[in-house]
Amino acid sequence: MIIRNVRILGAEPADIRVEGGAIAEIGPGLAGDDTIDGAGAVALPGLVDLHTHLREPGREDAETVQTGTQSAARGGYTAVHAMANTSPVADTAGVVEQVWRLGREFAHCDVHPVGAVTVGLEGRQLAELGAMADSAARVRVFSDDGKCVDDAVLMRRALEYVKAFDGVIAQHAQEPRLTSGAQMNEGVVSGRLGLTGWPAVAEEAIIARDCLLAAHVGSRLHVCHVSTAGSVEIIRWAKSKGWNVTAEVTPHHLLLTDDLVEESPVGAYNPIYKVNPPLRTHADVEALRAALADGTIDIVATDHAPHPVEDKETEWSAAAMGMVGLETALSVVQEAMVETGLLDWAGVAQRMSVVPARIGRLAGQGQPIEVGAPANITLYDPSVRTKVDPSAFASKSRNTPYEGMTLPGRVVATFLRGRPTVLEGKLV
Ligand SMILES: [Zn+2]
Repeated sequence: MIIRNVRILGAEPADIRVEGGAIAEIGPGLAGDDTIDGAGAVALPGLVDLHTHLREPGREDAETVQTGTQSAARGGYTAVHAMANTSPVADTAGVVEQVWRLGREFAHCDVHPVGAVTVGLEGRQLAELGAMADSAARVRVFSDDGKCVDDAVLMRRALEYVKAFDGVIAQHAQEPRLTSGAQMNEGVVSGRLGLTGWPAVAEEAIIARDCLLAAHVGSRLHVCHVSTAGSVEIIRWAKSKGWNVTAEVTPHHLLLTDDLVEESPVGAYNPIYKVNPPLRTHADVEALRAALADGTIDIVATDHAPHPVEDKETEWSAAAMGMVGLETALSVVQEAMVETGLLDWAGVAQRMSVVPARIGRLAGQGQPIEVGAPANITLYDPSVRTKVDPSAFASKSRNTPYEGMTLPGRVVATFLRGRPTVLEGKLV
């Protein structure tokens, strides 16, 4: 099969020949009959998400492995890491293998289960990290995401433990006592609205502690969804020391601010903007964009967090935290980073494919589009602008903050080892 007329990382048009799931030839005017017209789309290595909530097992009303990976494919992803806060929690070899098998059977992209750090995400006792690493799921990323591993001794032990198999602890940095009852970013807006604040220091204090712990034991730390300018400064400092720390930012933290809680196209106090960590200030957004551009923040991760309507369309204080993100991620990154001149397509490929695959230690993903590499390819047309229509999402959930917003770009096609999962923007 030949994918014709694509611009690899935005370069001059070329054709890509795919054979046996791998890239066999790249060049202009390749000969052959079995062709797909790329129509001048930008070709990126298939995107890799380090932070997806697939909700199965336990909350199949919100998402399943099948619908979540359909959503991923439509967003240009060829691999996702499935977070461990399912029911039951993915804290044993049995549960991570269950998710891994669901992925093999029903998924539209590769599914790599994340293992819980502590039993039941309860923060009291380490989970079976070694057994999960040795299981068929070959877990390398461990996280209590949704909750913070706030006990410093447990965090230290977890960091020490995963060294044996080159694992990484992905921390949801949230000091629990400082965020008890927190509803939104602590600042001017929360003061005016009378909502309990989630202060930046609750994130920054944990990140600082964890960087120090990772350095102390010589292990690998990944910081989930960095949301404040202060966190960026701490991570920049840790990296300047040569410590093994990586970090992610979500698309929504690159584009949206806490002002939306007070005033937005969908009114005030709309829980569609309720998310953890919360939307922050303009100054934070500016710092996060600059950090993603200069490499202080390594990657974009979606924190795709589907919730059914009844859990979001309720009063602010009762609403669930989180937003879906897989099907809008690339468009939001284009809006926040490419249109602003902060990143080119090669930079986007690094931050949404190459580096997330490296952090997750995925062998067959995140490889440059070159001869011999697996044919994991995303075709993206950055020239169109469309209104976000959640009813078109493949996700089971609709909790997007971008409904009705006009965003640039469209995923035209996604190829997983040469097999199309999306063509002409539609699931295959
Ligand atoms: Zn989280």
